[in-house]
Amino acid sequence: MLKKLFQSFRSPLRRTQHKRSTPEVLNSSQHSLQRAQFSRYAVNIVERLQNAGYQAYLVGGCVRDMLLNITPKDFDVATSATPEQVRAEFRNARIIGRRFKLVHIHFGREIIEVATFRANHPQNDEEEDTNQSSRNESGRILRDNVYGTLEEDAQRRDFTINALYYDPVSERILDYANGVHDIRNNLLRLIGDPAQRYQEDPVRMLRAVRFAAKLNFGIEKHTAAPIRDLAPMLREIPSARLFEEVLKLFLSGYAADTFEMLVDLQLFDPLFPASAEALEHNPTYTHTLISEALINTDLRIKQNKPVTPAFLFAALLWPALPKRVMRLQDRGMPAIPAMQEAAHELIAEQCQRIAIPKRFTMPIREIWDMQERLPRRSGKRADLLLDNPRFRAGYDFLLLRESAGEQTDGLGEWWTDYQDANDSQRREMIKELSSKGEATGDGPKKRRRSSGSKRKRSAGDASSASGE
Ligand code: ATP
Ligand code: MG
Repeated sequence: MLKKLFQSFRSPLRRTQHKRSTPEVLNSSQHSLQRAQFSRYAVNIVERLQNAGYQAYLVGGCVRDMLLNITPKDFDVATSATPEQVRAEFRNARIIGRRFKLVHIHFGREIIEVATFRANHPQNDEEEDTNQSSRNESGRILRDNVYGTLEEDAQRRDFTINALYYDPVSERILDYANGVHDIRNNLLRLIGDPAQRYQEDPVRMLRAVRFAAKLNFGIEKHTAAPIRDLAPMLREIPSARLFEEVLKLFLSGYAADTFEMLVDLQLFDPLFPASAEALEHNPTYTHTLISEALINTDLRIKQNKPVTPAFLFAALLWPALPKRVMRLQDRGMPAIPAMQEAAHELIAEQCQRIAIPKRFTMPIREIWDMQERLPRRSGKRADLLLDNPRFRAGYDFLLLRESAGEQTDGLGEWWTDYQDANDSQRREMIKELSSKGEATGDGPKKRRRSSGSKRKRSAGDASSASGE
């Protein structure tokens, strides 16, 4: 094969050039961006790198979002300078990452990420001289640490709209992949052959959904076409990476739409297999419960209220619990231990796919345990529960279950009233409960005595959680 050596001006490495496309250049009168809209720190970094003789641009999400009048989350810079060369220019710069180095330049609380231009790993050739292939047998890229030219950097990016380079000095946009056209047409399109790009990195399927939901873009038909077939490839992705991606999917304010798209494109199954099964067997209840949780999450994010991943995972997994509880009960395990064992099993199983850290799995279980305790209100129990640090999450979760159609005999409303009531009203409410012979929390003994009466439902009661 004919190999042509290419070395850009002060480019970090010599390497073989495969593709050489010329970008479409949009000058300041052909686009809406203005230098002043961007972080002055990021602009300053670009200027200093250019003055030192390197190529440097603002790139990725910030250019895309600015063109769409969305406030960018952060500002990324791409440059021909190596991390070491970048660090030499800035006192406040730190190199991070071992496998692939990036530079973080700190300005108070703002961090600008500076990445050296990277190239895609070659498909097949050039690998004979190394024992370690950069791809596995299904084409997934295992190493992604080859510096490249600006053109190569554009080609290895995922979507056309993410491959726009803005030079704040000349105020020009370089567009290597018709990204501006796709932005104008609200289209998400992968650069290159879609199936191959997903095989290289299956997480791009999740990114397609994330951007489509966030930007309200359509997924271009060739970009969407391979997803259903390739969705199972997500099972190969390390569970820690998937945890990060899933948080981005569900905590960026568009979770409800994201969920619909994940289900439609069959991406939900490889992420949450047990919940996907519940969705199949009990579609209305499962779908309502998860959607309601996600709609609430989106609302809280829009209102700048805190959201906890634990609540989100508690909701996503809850519909998968009843089947496991029932199986254990069928084997003779009493309701409460069966519920606890089922919770343990389900979380352990889920963590094989998505590595939910301990700091979240504990509160998931506490939110679920709270569902057992909220019906038991006799004596001092109600007041003790109110003081429990998980009360609020447990109570919100109870309301969520009710909104999905679970029958709880007005438990949510009771707790709403109880919180609003004064001391004497509270005493009265507890008294009324025992006079009505409600489940006041005297545990299994009391239940056995009243076995002739209407059966109380609780989270450990599988029929309750399934909404059946
Ligand atoms: P946002 O930060 O708003 O979620 P973003 O586009 O900045 O969106 P990042 O995950 O921060 O997304 O990635 C920065 C850029 O790196 C992207 O715009 C894209 O060009 C490139 N990129 C990120 N992940 C991949 C990937 N898996 N494959 C190819 N390119 C990627
Ligand atoms: Mg970004």
